[in-house]
Amino acid sequence: MPSSSAFKILVVEDEPTINQAVSDRLIGSGYEVVRAYDGPGAVASFEEASPDLVLLDVMLPGFDGHEVCRRIQAMRPVPVLMLTARDDESDILVGLGVGADDYLTKPFRMRELVARVAALLRRVERAAELAREASPQLGDLRIDAGARRVWVAASEIHLTPTEFDLLLRLAGSPGTVLTRETLYADVWGWSGASGTRTVDSHVKALRAKIGADRVRTVHGVGYALERVAGS
Ligand code: CA
Repeated sequence: MPSSSAFKILVVEDEPTINQAVSDRLIGSGYEVVRAYDGPGAVASFEEASPDLVLLDVMLPGFDGHEVCRRIQAMRPVPVLMLTARDDESDILVGLGVGADDYLTKPFRMRELVARVAALLRRVERAAELAREASPQLGDLRIDAGARRVWVAASEIHLTPTEFDLLLRLAGSPGTVLTRETLYADVWGWSGASGTRTVDSHVKALRAKIGADRVRTVHGVGYALERVAGS
């Protein structure tokens, strides 16, 4: 787990005293802070500094916080905590609609702001952890389950949707032999011996793409994905 000092926060607020106070408090809590004071400056700082979280005021010169949120989310998904001037429901709904994760109404207590920032970062970290768990890496074979992409060493391998699902199923229990019937039922959603030929032909295609030694055949039984190729 990285400590909070590893997190970089972009503070976007046009009122210098609020920007200063918020930044100081976050720095005091162990965060790294980058600051911006208007819409275009926020987008530029986001691109340049690659923050882990954005604290975003709605009313800003240039263009407003909603537009900033829309633009930065289009570049890269990032947790955004909006600061709204009033408890205006339409403001909040617009914010959530453009990709804000949470909002805080002004005036707010610094303690609450820091708690919300920490909670949002924890949530994002947990989601990333879950994605990593669902995206196994076996030796130099790496699978991004969410993006449905696969790499062997540095080269991306292009799999058909079925080949990908088959690989992901095998990767779910590496080293374990899965019967052709199990694979057919889990990947194709059907049961019965009729599917075993289908499984065989897809395994053959998968092997040709990721390397034959990565998938072990247990004759008459099924297949296993090796933990490390060639082992
Ligand atoms: Ca403002």
